[in-house]
Amino acid sequence: MDNNISTRLQQITATIPSGVQLVAVSKFHSAEAIQEAYNAGHRIFGESRAQELKQKFEILPNDIQWHFIGHLQSNKVRMLLPMVSLFHSIDSLHLLRTVNEEAKRVNIVANLLLQVHVAKEETKFGFSPDEIIDVVKSTIIKELHNISVRGMMGMASNTEHTPTITTEFEQLFYIFSEIKSLNIFQSFDILSMGMSHDYKLAIQCGSNMVRIGTDIFGIRQY
Ligand SMILES: *Cc1c(COP(=O)(O)O)cnc(C)c1O
Repeated sequence: MDNNISTRLQQITATIPSGVQLVAVSKFHSAEAIQEAYNAGHRIFGESRAQELKQKFEILPNDIQWHFIGHLQSNKVRMLLPMVSLFHSIDSLHLLRTVNEEAKRVNIVANLLLQVHVAKEETKFGFSPDEIIDVVKSTIIKELHNISVRGMMGMASNTEHTPTITTEFEQLFYIFSEIKSLNIFQSFDILSMGMSHDYKLAIQCGSNMVRIGTDIFGIRQY
């Protein structure tokens, strides 16, 4: 792998179809590394911890679009709202309500994705496939006027077994299409799935937003 962030970014961008957005996942990487990707023309960055995002937000250019991709705690929503352009990881009705309430307080509409859990192991976060259909059909969600549900986010199992990953991505795409066809949300059109090791498969299965960290910035130092 090339050591240069802008070169890697270019190589990845070249393999991604034009309708697919790239979120450069910069968690655990320095502001300098992000600045390097920024200088190469990239603007969308993903972070998974509230404090870390805030620190970077304060020193980096203000036309960066910050996406929050980690598990979101209710008590971090107020702090994050003015900084985050898209929340990927909304995984409970409680969180939906909290984001709505906080957005209402400051008179904005928050963009978010519903996280759906299909993978066998790994994270326990996310709505189950059954749960998500109930939630989007519920009357409660229609009353939340300060959120815009823009789509869905999901992860496949962390495995080398391609058929498993493909099945899970296909399942996510199926749920996404089903919700979209219900016409509940005005602009439900983002399907965020695919990371460094599986984004090509994800795109084949219908992803239009990939979240890539390691392949751009290298191995994370925890
Ligand atoms: C860390 C992370 C990624 C990026 O993973 P890489 O394997 O480094 O590309 C993508 N999505 C989520 C939700 C993450 O937490």
